[in-house]
Amino acid sequence: MAATKSRPPKSKSWLLSILLFGTLIAMSLVSLTNPKRSSDKEFADAPEVSISEITRGYSAGRFSKISVRDNKVFITTTTGAVLQSYKESRDTVSQLGWNDPSNSTIVEVENREAQNMLMAILPDLLFLLLVVCGLIWLFRGIARSQSTAMSFGKSRAKVADATQVKTRFKDVAGMEESKEDLMEVVDFLKNPKKYTSIGAKIPKGVLLVGAPGTGKTLLARAVAGESGVPFFSIAGSEFVEMFVGVGASRVRDLFAKAKRNSPCIIFIDEIDAVGRQRGGAGFGGGHDEREQTLNQILTEMDGFEQETNVIVIAATNRPDVLDQALLRPGRFDRRIFIDRPDLVAREQILEVHTRNKKMAKKINLTLIARKTVGLTGADLENIMNEAAIFAAKRKHKTVSQQDIDDAVEKVALGPEKRSRKLSEKEKSITAYHELGHAIVGYLCPESDDLHKISIVSRGSTLGVTWFLPQEDQYTTSRTKFLDEICGLLGGRAAEELIFKEITTGASNDLERASVIARNMAMRYGMGNDDIGLVTYGEKQGTMFLGVDPATTRNYSEEQACHIDDFVRETISKQYVRALGILKKHKSKLDKLTKILLKKETMSKEEFVEIFTGKKPKKRK
Ligand code: ADP
Ligand code: MG
Ligand code: ZN
Repeated sequence: MAATKSRPPKSKSWLLSILLFGTLIAMSLVSLTNPKRSSDKEFADAPEVSISEITRGYSAGRFSKISVRDNKVFITTTTGAVLQSYKESRDTVSQLGWNDPSNSTIVEVENREAQNMLMAILPDLLFLLLVVCGLIWLFRGIARSQSTAMSFGKSRAKVADATQVKTRFKDVAGMEESKEDLMEVVDFLKNPKKYTSIGAKIPKGVLLVGAPGTGKTLLARAVAGESGVPFFSIAGSEFVEMFVGVGASRVRDLFAKAKRNSPCIIFIDEIDAVGRQRGGAGFGGGHDEREQTLNQILTEMDGFEQETNVIVIAATNRPDVLDQALLRPGRFDRRIFIDRPDLVAREQILEVHTRNKKMAKKINLTLIARKTVGLTGADLENIMNEAAIFAAKRKHKTVSQQDIDDAVEKVALGPEKRSRKLSEKEKSITAYHELGHAIVGYLCPESDDLHKISIVSRGSTLGVTWFLPQEDQYTTSRTKFLDEICGLLGGRAAEELIFKEITTGASNDLERASVIARNMAMRYGMGNDDIGLVTYGEKQGTMFLGVDPATTRNYSEEQACHIDDFVRETISKQYVRALGILKKHKSKLDKLTKILLKKETMSKEEFVEIFTGKKPKKRK
């Protein structure tokens, strides 16, 4: 903005200063050339004579020059002597009779008054000048702002040239299926003839759907990079302005530009900002502007001729709110779902992000990938970056395994808060609580693998027992749910067993346990006979990307009682089970707590060694 617009005012102020300077110089010149100074000196000591004597001398031709300045009269005689005199201010030269044309005496009248007047009005003149310049400047400003208002409707899409996009498919780890689908799009753009000659239609729109950070934007850039065509990228929110109609005209402009540059790709990121269900009162009310913008996108996409070779790629993490019209064939008819990366993909993503970092020789990324279940590509990138920061802080030459491990913990559990001071009692409660989770979890056969126990405060938690799923799991058994509930209750059970007292520390555990039990009854048909194999609760909208939609009750008061009973029974059964396990291993619990209080963190291997009294066979 600054580069182009600051120009005109710059030259203007330059002109202004020249004008000001010029006037100043002129003023000083005027005062310098003013003859009064020299004559003042010359006549300072001249003898004074009466005015009538001067008139007589003039008539007699005794003077060579008479100068009149205001009321003063300076006379130079023919012999070179000087005299001075005073006249009445109303006496003019002609009244005094000094204007005889036959007289050779030079009579000068210095019009000081005129000069004074000039001096008097000069400031006014300058002021006027300033005002005029100011006005000009103001008008120019208005004109300029009007011209920016005019360019409002221009699209703000950033254009990247084919050569500028450096991203390739090899920079996108995992997502083999998605890449394959997009490979086709790349081929369309490269050899459209191949498809059109046999009558196949080139897809107009591709919708990338996935949770935030799963690499949608990255993938779109990779498509542009691979196909080597210009890439117009714009975020959905950039269409929307304060003024109605601006979005629509931006869409028009964007598509017009794209057609001129075809073949090319238009990438609309976060399209849900404009592509929401139209006329829906539910989502932010009817937003006129958004509707118009969306209508325009639809119109433009319909208006594409087959030969234009413009492909629209859009990305969203809320396909459930998108307008149906966007999804019908001929628009975004290709939908590519991008899942959170699985174990193998996570390892590959980590690999991609080690490429630009100095890594230590022996790094086990599989281990890191195992620890990062459920994290997205963006999270993994963040982890590798945190690891590099740790390495730099610790003055390592390369990023070590330890740095990455710490980074994973920081990202997954929040930064450590070693400064938070806990009382001895609180610390000991926390240690028992966490070891309660650990022991129960370790002894429940279906529970996830124990990974680490820590009583270092992190974020909002005082301690943490970290379990890792062996593999990414897509289904869960009834036994696993019950074991999970049991493990979650282990913390509270330990507190009660040891202190005969309970704290608020377990509230989150109880919440999670209740949710699992309730879902067993309501969603998975794992309840008792009274509940049966019916699912309960009607979802408002579709379940998507792990975000539960609101549910409404579609069952009777009686069934609600059955469900509540089941939840309560399940929880109390598992609580008794957890208490039983801990009672049986109370001496181990005491021993482990003492060690944990000293060491603050404990790995699975250390735990197993103390718990079983044997060296673990093999590190896993
Ligand atoms: P989205 O647009 O889906 O929210 P981005 O495409 O902006 O996510 O991804 C954010 C960052 O995460 C990318 O810049 C990239 O560094 C990293 N990332 C995500 N997925 C991958 C992947 N599959 N391979 C490599 N890096 C990835
Ligand atoms: Mg994105
Ligand atoms: Zn707990």
